[in-house]
Amino acid sequence: MDFASERQGMVDEQLIPRGITDPAVLAAFRSVPREKFIDPQYQKLAYIDAPLTIGEGQTISQPFTVAMMTQLLELKTTDRVLEVGTGSGYQAAILAEIVKDGQVFTIERFANLATKAEKVLDYKNVKVSVGDGTRGLPDEAPFDAIIVTAAAPKIPQPLIDQLALGGRLVMPVGGEWHQEMIRIRKEKEGIKRERFGGYRFVPLIGEFGLKK
Ligand code: SAH
Repeated sequence: MDFASERQGMVDEQLIPRGITDPAVLAAFRSVPREKFIDPQYQKLAYIDAPLTIGEGQTISQPFTVAMMTQLLELKTTDRVLEVGTGSGYQAAILAEIVKDGQVFTIERFANLATKAEKVLDYKNVKVSVGDGTRGLPDEAPFDAIIVTAAAPKIPQPLIDQLALGGRLVMPVGGEWHQEMIRIRKEKEGIKRERFGGYRFVPLIGEFGLKK
């Protein structure tokens, strides 16, 4: 099987039957070549229904997890989005496809992962930076959407502060072995919080995350 037909298979078998319905999310998954974000020795596994290793003890999330988090962000094409945890760059590419007239800022703590991701991310509307994403990117705030692709016991306060009014933030929140997917929404009346089931992510390491 070639990558193009595996990519369509991923959408039809892993995403649609499990409740991914947002047409913009499905279109992005049909077009972004996931194999490009994976090291050569694992490339033939690019479309399996599981996370894969990307080096530095980190992983590219399972396709369904990337899709679910993206759908929860309820993106508009003009949104300014912050991603904490660039990793392979795949999630950033999916976001960039959707916010065509907006901007994606993605931040990674490992310089070599950021450099690798930057090389494969072929989008004018993506900016990769290296640093502690638990502090957010104050110079670029506010954001319409923030996605954190690593887990901590609580949502870093700077990220909540950098969310625009009406903005959404999606992050796995919990202990080392098990987290709950959380979406918060910043509204005039305050912060609204919803839960979307159990997941397991790599740790969010930083000043407002886990210390290491
Ligand atoms: N979104 C990625 C998934 C990467 S896994 C993808 O599509 O491939 C989570 C990433 O978060 C790891 O690369 C890890 O190094 C990074 N990370 C952990 N804590 C961080 C922090 N405080 N700031 C920035 N990146 C962080």
